[in-house]
Amino acid sequence: MIVVMKPGASKECIQHVIDLVHDYGLKDHPIYGTDQTVIACIGDKRAVDKGAIENAPMVEKVMPILAPYKMASLEVKKEISQICIGPNQTPIGGTKIGIIAGPCSVESREQILTTANAIKDAGCIGLRGGAYKPRTSPYSFQGLGLEGLKILAEARQQTELAIITEVIGLEQVESVAEYSDVLQIGARNMQHYPLLEAVGKTNKPVLLKRGMSATLDEFLLAAEYIINAGNPNVILCERGIRTYEGYVRNTLALAAIPALRERTHLPIVIDPSHGTGHAYMVPSMCLAAVAAGADGLIIECHPDPEHAASDGAQSITPKIMAELMVKLRRVAEAVDREL
Ligand code: PEP
Ligand code: MN
Repeated sequence: MIVVMKPGASKECIQHVIDLVHDYGLKDHPIYGTDQTVIACIGDKRAVDKGAIENAPMVEKVMPILAPYKMASLEVKKEISQICIGPNQTPIGGTKIGIIAGPCSVESREQILTTANAIKDAGCIGLRGGAYKPRTSPYSFQGLGLEGLKILAEARQQTELAIITEVIGLEQVESVAEYSDVLQIGARNMQHYPLLEAVGKTNKPVLLKRGMSATLDEFLLAAEYIINAGNPNVILCERGIRTYEGYVRNTLALAAIPALRERTHLPIVIDPSHGTGHAYMVPSMCLAAVAAGADGLIIECHPDPEHAASDGAQSITPKIMAELMVKLRRVAEAVDREL
């Protein structure tokens, strides 16, 4: 249920409604817009007297939320959320498109610092890189762990880029949150509900990847877990789904951009690297994603893809990245956005 307050409702009127919502045993999630405040009420609504709340001063209307996800839905918040990340609080969403790049895995200090400086010069706002890697095989490189987090933190200090890195288990949430700016939840963990709740209790934005077989409703309900735990700063990431096709690693569902935009106010980021599996396809998919309305991109970029410890085949070089940024700026401008 959503309580829509009239424009200009005072703090006292809003608090009065929140108290009423508590009296009915519901949890309140106020969303303060530029003109109007809405209060999303979550919980068992069977015992609620809708009319009583509608009668409270400065209440415009009380409406049911129809989507299964509540706080993630466009019904609750009409303006697209802008989420600020990193030391400079650079925005993603709204008119701004944020480009994040970096290797699949953190391999060494030199690899990260070289990449970070190159992508910063190209105009990226964030550096990605996994210190903890969710690998299909237990015999593959599993990441540098804490040492990798420290290398990423050093790159942030040098470049002021926002650091985006994956948290694969509950036990790492605290240290990953300490060293990074955005916690990535990987596709394999989209339905790891205790982990979603744990990152929901931190104060760091979360980049949530869509599971490789998840529907959009399941994806948005996973985002809802994080928001419901107390963290509204969720960035959605489409990274391709598993299909029968063999010419790509995953099938990048770019139609998810307009479909999600119809349903949610959360920023939408596209990962064309895992979404295709091939470096040569990445630039075209980036341009298409921005043209289709993506709020950001997260791209695997490695100074020496042929020797990458993971995902070399889908990693572009810093040189290709810099060339791509020039084209991305032109496409962004054509759709009234900016990088
Ligand atoms: C990654 O970003 O390197 C990664 C493992 O992604 P995904 O969870 O989308 O497979
Ligand atoms: Mn990868």
